[in-house]
Order: sequence, then C-alpha cells, then structure tokens
Amino acid sequence: MIIRRGKEDLVTTSEAHLKKRIAILGSTGSIGCSALDLLRQIPERFEIVGLTANENISLLRKQVEEWQPRVIAVMDEEKCKEIRTSINLRKTDVLSGIEGISEVAVRKDVDLVLSAIVGSAGLTPTMAAIEAGKQIALASKEPVVMAGELLMAEVTRRGATLIPVDSEPNAIFQCLQGRKKESIRRLIVTASGGPFRNLSREEMSRVTPEEALSHPAWKMGKKISVDSATMVNKGLEVIEAHYMFGIPVSKIGVVVHPEAKIHGMVEFIDGNILAVIGVTDMRAPIQYALTYPEKIPTPIKPLDLSQISPLTFQAPDTAKFPGLQCGYEAAEAGGTMPAVLNAANEIAVAAFIERKIGFLDITDLCRKVMSKHKAGQKPGMEEILEADRWAREETNCLIKSKG
Ligand code: NDP
Repeated sequence: MIIRRGKEDLVTTSEAHLKKRIAILGSTGSIGCSALDLLRQIPERFEIVGLTANENISLLRKQVEEWQPRVIAVMDEEKCKEIRTSINLRKTDVLSGIEGISEVAVRKDVDLVLSAIVGSAGLTPTMAAIEAGKQIALASKEPVVMAGELLMAEVTRRGATLIPVDSEPNAIFQCLQGRKKESIRRLIVTASGGPFRNLSREEMSRVTPEEALSHPAWKMGKKISVDSATMVNKGLEVIEAHYMFGIPVSKIGVVVHPEAKIHGMVEFIDGNILAVIGVTDMRAPIQYALTYPEKIPTPIKPLDLSQISPLTFQAPDTAKFPGLQCGYEAAEAGGTMPAVLNAANEIAVAAFIERKIGFLDITDLCRKVMSKHKAGQKPGMEEILEADRWAREETNCLIKSKG
C-alpha cells in the first residue's frame, strides 16, 4: 500500500514502518555519536539521510564512510572544501554554512531531525526544521532558552513534533504523557550537582578547566560539562522546561540527586509523583525520542535496582551555585533575558576553557550582563538575535577589562 508523505514523496507503508529517515545535526558531538552508536545496534529501524558538523572533519569522514548519507553539511567553509577533496563522495552531496545545515534539516526525504548542535548555532536549523513541520528529537537546549516562546508557537502553528532528548525534560515529557496540565502541581528537574557539589566557593575559585570538564555521572561535550559544573545547565533547563511544557516558573523545582538515576519527576495535584528511573546513559533518552511514540527493545544494559541504593536528594545551594538562580531570574524576566543569559554564559564558558577567566567568573559575568539588560517582552527573532549579539559584546568587554 502507498501512503502520502509531504507533497511529492511517496513511500510504501512497509518501508515507512521499517525505516525512519533521519538527519543528525551535530553528528560529531557527544549526543550525535551516542545516537549513531544506538542506531548501529538497531539498523533495521533507521536510514541516515543527513549528517552535519562544524569542523571535526576526520570524524565526519569516518561517519560518511560508514553510513553513506545522502547529504552532509559542514559549518566551516574551509573544512567543507577539505572534505570534498579528501573523500570519495559518489553518493553524498556536500553543503556548507548554516544554510547548508538548515537545508539538511528541511529535506523532504527526512522524517526525523535529531537536533544536537551545541549553543546558539542550533537555533536557525532547529527553527527551520520546526517550520518544515518535522518531527524533532531536541537535544540542543540553547535554541529553546533563547527563543522558547517563538519556537513553541511555531511548533503548534506548523504541526511539528518536539520530543526532548536531554534526560531531564525527556523524563518529564514521559511523565506527562496522557496527563492534563491542570493536574500538575510542579515539575521536578533533577540535578547531579556536578563535580564541585561538595567544594566550598573558595575551593571552586581554583578549579581548572580539566577538573570542570570531568563530570562524575555523565560523559558529555565541553560546554555542557562546564554548564553542569556551574549549574548554569540546571538554570537553562528550568527555562527550557518553562517554555517547552508551558508551565509557570514558580511550578518548576530543582532537586539535587547525585546518583543521577532519577532523571525527572512530575508531582500531580493529588500528591502523587511520577518519576523516570533509568541508567545514566544518554542513549536511553535518545532512543525514546527517536522511536517515539513507540517503545522498542533496547540494546542498553538494564538498570539493576539492587545496585543503585541509596538514592539521595538535597535542596540545591543557590548561594554556592548562583548559575541556577540566574536561570530562574532569566525565566521570570522572560522576553530577551534568557537569550542574554545564554549568550553571556557561552562567551564566559569559552573564556574559562581558554583559561582567560576563573571558574567563578562564569556566573559572575552572567549576573553582571543580565543586570545591565532590560528584557524586551514578546521579542521577535530580530530582537532575540540583537540581545544575543549585545550580550556577547558586553561579556567580551567585561572579560577584556578584567585583563
Ligand atoms: P558537543 O560539543 O559534543 O557537540 C556539538 C556538535 O555541534 C558537534 O557535532 C559540533 O561539530 C557541532 N557544532 C558546534 N558548533 C557548531 C556551529 N557553530 N555550527 C554547526 N555545528 C556546530 O556537544 P554535546 O553533544 O555534548 O551537546 C549538544 C547539545 O545537546 C547541547 O545543546 C547540550 O546542552 C545538549 N545535551 C547534551 C548532553 C550530552 O550528554 N552530551 C545531554 C543533554 C543535552 P564539531 O564536532 O565539528 O565541532
């Protein structure tokens, strides 16, 4: 039997059932590689149509050789030329720049987009995928933080589907299936607390990028590892949850759970709490998001409950980790403020990794830049991008003035 998908594209139901055609934006990153690792183990389910990277050409080349995608896109022009000349690309088109990446996301032969580009660079292609009405497995939290209201309005308008990949919103999404918004008392975002949970502020002032990049529970890309160490990551997740689930900030709580086995919870008005408990392995939420709404057997080793006790919970210490508080304040201010926090943080994290500033300077800078910004309400994309540009410039100036 033939079914219609989009305007021109005809496929048989059996093909449609067997293989979802997927584009992975950010395939060379931690999430991208975890997704490919998972797909390697369930090859009957997916066909890789597109892959994208920024500059890691050697890894992208290996991925192209293995997966033979129909298209790849590379952000960096020079690297794009390099891959064109260094690999036999009989079956693969090569595109470049952010336009090229967006083109991969909106192709007619793509059913599902895994959006896993780090930072604000993910905004344009994620928005493009939404505007094309795609099913999107969303790992990149920065686009929702920057432009949550706009993005979610477009999701509704275009009939796109957004399934969170990040373990916390993914867990909350699972707990909310089939529930009415009115029945929610609060969303509970869990936090491992990062590698410096037990350090004093004084001790944290001396931590190195290497120490910040080494997360006790998760193996992740550089930026999110530092964000977890400052707990700005949790602040960004509060903003993300607020926009993604349409829940007031006052109904979003954070609890520190160092064992990182409970990934997210929802407390309902009848006092019951639903939680998702699972392995500390990003392939689990990735699988859920890629196969949604189906549940399929997993190649991931199951959790042995007898091995994970005790599970502990603590209130977060916002005096020690002001990054979380920045997230709450930006979410409350709304408008352009989350984009300002996101931009200040991106610049500060990069400066910390380059050893230009200390660990505690990251959240100090976020706070200072936010305090100089008056949040414009109901911003359009231009105002959001202008706020992002302003905050980057301001943060860079403050870093320079520190010498
Ligand atoms: P990585 O830094 O490991 O990977 C980022 C990916 O984005 C790489 O493919 C990179 O390409 C690409 N990229 C970087 N900059 C650009 C750019 N300017 N234009 C186009 N592509 C670019 O990040 P992660 O995989 O850790 O994280 C990705 C997203 O997922 C983040 O938003 C993060 O917050 C979120 N997330 C990650 C988790 C994890 O476990 N890693 C968990 C939950 C959420 P290249 O390799 O060529 O530089």
